[in-house]
Amino acid sequence: MKLSKAVRLDENNIAIKRINERCIDCGRCKTICHDIVGINYDEKCREAVCINCGQCILNCPVGALVPKYDYKRVLDYLHDTEKIVTISIAPAVRTSIGEGFGLEPGTFLEKELVGALKEVGFDYVFDVTFGADMTVMEEAMELVNRLKNKGTLPMFTSCCPSWVKYLEIYHPDKISHLSTVKSPIGIQSSVINTYFLKMMNIPKEKIVNVVVAPCTTKKFEIRRTEMGMDIAITTSELVMLLKESGIDIKKIEPKEFDSLLSKGSGAGLIFGRSGGVAESVLRCVNYILTGKDKIINSITIEENEKSGKIKKTTVNIGSYKLRVVVIQGMKNVEEVLKDLDNYDFIEVMNCNEGCVGGGGQVLNAINKMAEINIKRASSLEEDDKNNKIRFCYKNPDVINIYKSYLDYPNSPKAIKLIHTNFKDRSSILREKSL
Ligand code: SF4
Ligand code: SF4
Repeated sequence: MKLSKAVRLDENNIAIKRINERCIDCGRCKTICHDIVGINYDEKCREAVCINCGQCILNCPVGALVPKYDYKRVLDYLHDTEKIVTISIAPAVRTSIGEGFGLEPGTFLEKELVGALKEVGFDYVFDVTFGADMTVMEEAMELVNRLKNKGTLPMFTSCCPSWVKYLEIYHPDKISHLSTVKSPIGIQSSVINTYFLKMMNIPKEKIVNVVVAPCTTKKFEIRRTEMGMDIAITTSELVMLLKESGIDIKKIEPKEFDSLLSKGSGAGLIFGRSGGVAESVLRCVNYILTGKDKIINSITIEENEKSGKIKKTTVNIGSYKLRVVVIQGMKNVEEVLKDLDNYDFIEVMNCNEGCVGGGGQVLNAINKMAEINIKRASSLEEDDKNNKIRFCYKNPDVINIYKSYLDYPNSPKAIKLIHTNFKDRSSILREKSL
């Protein structure tokens, strides 16, 4: 069947695949991509414009769209006795993995997930909330430096690779607004490949680093230079990997993360929901500028001006009045980009409710998705509230790595290892013949 209504998708798309025999050409994926996510381009342009977010996967009624599966490669490495295989778990995975085993959406499975991954044979199981805490330390310092030294403002968060790719394609003139800090997964892999290998005396060629994320775009992101993660799989792929290995997460003995990059703070965990990065960075900015601990939470943001997926607030920290915006979805970004002089700090996440609604999460009924994403987000919220450590700068693993390796946030060593740069990708919007 010739597909005329389906969204344009290239064969070599790194993250998403369409099984054409299953497709009924209903056109839903195109509507989601263009009208909800906000990706618009001329059909004549040289390649399909895709920010790899996978929202089309979640919305296909017949399962014709799927992540490009990489979990079989992970199984191969697990059977290779020459290799040491690490896996790092992104925050939002633990709120959705249970759905693959018949548990309620939002069931928080952390130690059970660590136990299951150890049972399958991973040598080290790490928590990406450690990387998230490091991102906050670096990003908060970068924001303070931009404020004090009249650097480019507003500063944009850069931890959502779909948002970063969107900006590189549609607004390359605004790249200098992006924080140069690597995403939590980028930091995680850089730290494993340097600090961890050195501490454990492991040769670089023996290590294979895997990340499990709610996000299909991570398959694209890890191919950026200097990212250092070898394979990215989604939550839904992890369910397949566990089931094919005969694991039922409901029957697993809970275990703790491995040390050096173990559990992060509550601030790192809420990266998995919309508003979480902004709140965590503001907690840390507050500490840098006032020396005090203060929880700046989503209630503070929601009490103020709010319009759909754009939340705005002003936060007073020391002598600064920081004008902050939290945005979900590329469509909503455009409105704010027209008006940049009015803001100091902007968080952007592509997916509904943030990463909990990522295109790699376990599939559910399309009409239940909004409600399920809220349950997953509340699950992270709850864990942050109950966490003994709610500030990244109080995480002992973070304190240790600065003391013994990176010196201080934004130090020359930190800039070299855990910051990055971005590039103009607007040429893909050109017509084929140009
Ligand atoms: S949503 Fe699924 S079935 Fe409908 S056109 Fe897209 S790929 Fe085909
Ligand atoms: S919001 Fe999260 S899951 Fe969605 S594209 Fe961005 S990083 Fe990936």
